[in-house]
Amino acid sequence: MSEPAHDRSAVVGDPHRELHDRLIEAGLLFATPVQGLYGRSETYQEVVRALDAMVHRWALTLEATTIHVPPVLARSTFDATNYLQSFPDLMGSVHIFSGNDRTHAELVRRVEAGGDWQALLEPGEVVLSSAACHALYPMLSGRLPAGGRRFEVNGLCFRHEPSVDPARMQSFSMHEVVYVGDPDDAQQHRDRGLRVALARLAELGLEAEAVPANDPFFGRLGTALAASQLEEELKLEAVTPIFAGRERTAVVSANCHRDHFGQPFGIENDAGAPAHSACVAFGVDRITIALFARHGLDPSTWPNEVRSALFS
Ligand code: 5GP
Ligand code: ZN
Repeated sequence: MSEPAHDRSAVVGDPHRELHDRLIEAGLLFATPVQGLYGRSETYQEVVRALDAMVHRWALTLEATTIHVPPVLARSTFDATNYLQSFPDLMGSVHIFSGNDRTHAELVRRVEAGGDWQALLEPGEVVLSSAACHALYPMLSGRLPAGGRRFEVNGLCFRHEPSVDPARMQSFSMHEVVYVGDPDDAQQHRDRGLRVALARLAELGLEAEAVPANDPFFGRLGTALAASQLEEELKLEAVTPIFAGRERTAVVSANCHRDHFGQPFGIENDAGAPAHSACVAFGVDRITIALFARHGLDPSTWPNEVRSALFS
């Protein structure tokens, strides 16, 4: 975990490292000094754009409103999502300098001395976004129309999970299709969305299966939260094999939130009850990595049916 991403010295036979190294040698990803943080090549990004277009085509059939969200989230929104209670280890906070000439001189002095200049910063009004859909909810405070609303929300997310596994990035793209409104419709959106996702993955030549899942809740309390999430089947994931002999990787998740967001953000259905929500989250970077792992590192050689499903 502690070795830098470009250290190619060891762990022969580690399938995560092998794929990581192949992607970098092929020029598809560019390593940085931090694990799980990459530059992307144009070829890689063409696949990302094609997947985004694929999700967009589905969202259009639902008459969803499209919102491209920034990679940072209002701190007030973050606080209302209760993310810190469940995933304190994954979050990232943005700190800013708002000092004067005197504190600036001290800042520079500390930088040049290799000292603790961060201590002179203070929390900014934003944190790094952990899930694309979080940005949506404060936009919806108030009463929804009958039947609720659908949105397509696309943006970069951050989670502090350094790993050599190229499918576990710290900064990655998430493209979600979200329903906000009534409980039954939320459940239906989640279940239908997952079926659509599985069908699209199959067209891309990725064998995927839906399995019940839980979020990686933090700590001892988290164990109970994970168990009840699993038991109530609030989270399902489409998993696909990327690494032979290893656990399959979640490339899409489909989540029922109940009123977890409706309540704190004051979103009401047309009857005035706290809105329920559900999201189908496509991990676009993960699907991209899965495609390269499955079909090879040159998209021009991918099977015709995959190419036409993707680049149509
Ligand atoms: P969730 O909110 O369910 O944890 O994440 C939604 C989707 O984002 C996951 O199904 C997965 O495809 C993608 N995702 C989650 N964590 C990571 C990660 O560390 N790296 C990448 N590339 N994608 C991730
Ligand atoms: Zn979501």
